[in-house]
Amino acid sequence: MSLTRYNAKRDFSRTREPQGSTAVGKADDPRRMLFVIQKHAATRLHFDLRLEMGGVLKSWAVPKGIPTLRGEKRLAMQVEDHPVEYASFEGIIPPGNYGAGTVMLWEAGIAEVLDDEPLRALRKGRLALQLDGRKLKGRWSLVRMRPGEERGENAWLLIKTEADATPIPAADRSVQSGRTMEQIAAAADLTWPSSQPDRNTRPGTRHARAGWRARPQRRRRT
Ligand code: MN
Repeated sequence: MSLTRYNAKRDFSRTREPQGSTAVGKADDPRRMLFVIQKHAATRLHFDLRLEMGGVLKSWAVPKGIPTLRGEKRLAMQVEDHPVEYASFEGIIPPGNYGAGTVMLWEAGIAEVLDDEPLRALRKGRLALQLDGRKLKGRWSLVRMRPGEERGENAWLLIKTEADATPIPAADRSVQSGRTMEQIAAAADLTWPSSQPDRNTRPGTRHARAGWRARPQRRRRT
């Protein structure tokens, strides 16, 4: 029922076995869900926070990045729902398309909505989140701003609510490929083959590069 031992025996930077944290015996807990954050160098650089809810990725664009100090608040504009498959997208949105630019899968993990049922909390405009990602571990809240405030009904605040013990690593690389934005941008014709995530091979090695393959670019929404 717990994967604690399984995980304790393995170094997931060195094996392609799946990391157990996404299951942990709680697959039937509706408050726990996938979350990803994509760093997106579009017209303006921003971070897209996405939470898997109701069969889609509920999405917010956070122009100034994820707050890390307790009490910090960042504007988070709710944008259109994205398909769940988008959670593995990293690459280039070609010029001329909506959101054209480089997308890095900056963070991925499990989010737990505290205190309420997720979709109800979303409707109420107040999500208390426990994030368990590769970089981010701790508590944040998403709070919808009141109508009439200057940015309209899609404006939320992403707030760091607690000072967490876990520091956020400085490495600004993809959690999927290990690449920097510059490396992703330089590989415009490549996307990660999500059906065969080659997660054990560390980026930059010949082995890791063999896990990449050319894919035709498809039009994507951001
Ligand atoms: Mn975006």
